[in-house]
Amino acid sequence: MRDSDSLFDSLVLGAGPAGVSAALRLRQLGYRVLLVERSAVWPRPQVGEALTPGVRNIIELLDANDALASVPHVARAGSRVLWRGRAPDLLQQAGSAIVDRGRFDAALLGLARHRGVELEQPARLLEVTGAAGDWRVSLLCGAARPRQVRARFILDASGRNAAPGIRCAPRLAALWGEVDQSALPELDGATQVEALEHGWLWAGCLPGRRYRLMLVCDPHAARRTQPAGPEARLRAACAASQLLRAAAELPLLGSVQVCAATPYLAPDSWQEGRMKLGDAAFALDPVSSSGVEKAMRFSLQAAVAVHTVLSDDRSGRQALARRFFEGRLVEACARHAHWTEAYYGQAWCADQPFWQARSRCEPSGDDALRPDLLAALSMERARLAGYQPPELRPLAALNPALPLRLHGGAAIVELPCVVDDRVCLHTALDHPHLERPLAFLENEALFPHLARMAQPLPLTQLLNMLAASMPGHKAQRIAAWLWQRGLLENVA
Ligand SMILES: Cc1cc2nc3c(=O)[nH]c(=O)nc-3n(C[C@H](O)[C@H](O)[C@H](O)COP(=O)(O)OP(=O)(O)OC[C@H]3O[C@@H](n4cnc5c(N)ncnc54)[C@H](O)[C@@H]3O)c2cc1C
Repeated sequence: MRDSDSLFDSLVLGAGPAGVSAALRLRQLGYRVLLVERSAVWPRPQVGEALTPGVRNIIELLDANDALASVPHVARAGSRVLWRGRAPDLLQQAGSAIVDRGRFDAALLGLARHRGVELEQPARLLEVTGAAGDWRVSLLCGAARPRQVRARFILDASGRNAAPGIRCAPRLAALWGEVDQSALPELDGATQVEALEHGWLWAGCLPGRRYRLMLVCDPHAARRTQPAGPEARLRAACAASQLLRAAAELPLLGSVQVCAATPYLAPDSWQEGRMKLGDAAFALDPVSSSGVEKAMRFSLQAAVAVHTVLSDDRSGRQALARRFFEGRLVEACARHAHWTEAYYGQAWCADQPFWQARSRCEPSGDDALRPDLLAALSMERARLAGYQPPELRPLAALNPALPLRLHGGAAIVELPCVVDDRVCLHTALDHPHLERPLAFLENEALFPHLARMAQPLPLTQLLNMLAASMPGHKAQRIAAWLWQRGLLENVA
């Protein structure tokens, strides 16, 4: 084997959606990538089949539509959701689908190989020595073939972490089994979601006419109240439900499976020359069914951070890439926790301990691990909790005869942003009326233009200034957007 055969820019561990998305993106950016997948069974079974509509954009960005066209899927025939009250709501979510996850992951991996990502499968990582930029990695490939490779960056996308570090919510476990879909004709193939006093149920059609029944609950409380084992717990939950009572006694197509589902963040997700992705970095409460989308999206952002480090050795790039990476990690977890808390708080049984604990929870973990990350998570959640979207001002209230300037509450801050697939510091506008600082609007940089708005400027000058670098209609929309949110004010 030639020496160059063992030299890689990135080594990615794990061929789930997070690992393959990162591998595909890094290939698109021109890097040599080795993907190492442990599982010999492929496609392998994997929970997490309900995909949110946002996955489509990511698939398009990865140019993976064709590769995924043949993956068995069920277009979701709506959801019956019994959550807020005791009568179900019928919801339609355009663009969502339930896929055969094993085949979905396998199709993405096939595409990655076709695009030139090298694969070792089944393979295990035995040892990593060396240093960031030049890792020496020993692999055991197949049954007994050792392989030594060198990699500039290592990305760990090996899935759910057993010792995650920061817990973002109280413990959760999921247990599920499958029944024959034809035994439940009254459900007409719709997904069912129901809040119960001690947890919640999700049920839906999988490809192959199987119908999945899943209970998500507090593992300790569930064991106390129903010690007879997971199958008895699942059957008891169905029997106590309104929507899935008919499934309680049906024969199961296999044994009941159990897994941990506690949301967390791994504080060591960024180390020099190494990072964690997807569930290895953060896991979300499955109530949103958006883990795959968020894992893939985060991998695309992580690939930008890797590209920044590998393509630019100027000092400070490493720190900037890390700030961007950890910022996105904290944002993903905080946003999801914020949404989840509100959603749990809306349940008809929100006064029960299971729901109370999840509708107002603080992240917890060993403070010594990364107190700064824990603090950033709490701050981001406080920011989201405190944010009130402004009431939009009518455009008619803008007096074109009076000059405009930035509102007194506006601040100009520096933010790590993605420009040309790399992280760079960009000037951004911050204001209590913005959910987060804003550097770009309609893909146009707001600065340096807005820096001049600290001083009053006539509307025509503002529009001309913006229009110097963008089409006139965009300039008008951006000025209107800023005005309506109170970020610009007339000066008498
Ligand atoms: C109960 C439950 C229900 C869920 N439901 C949904 C849902 O409906 N929709 C949704 O979008 N998300 C859902 N999720 C979340 C979703 O499953 C995950 O977010 C998603 O699978 C994360 O992808 P990943 O690539 O990070 O990890 P994984 O999909 O777990 O892939 C990790 C890969 O790494 C491999 N691997 C492990 N260790 C090693 C190693 N040492 N070396 C090499 N390879 C290794 C594994 O074999 C695997 O192929 C659910 C999660 C749970 C717990």
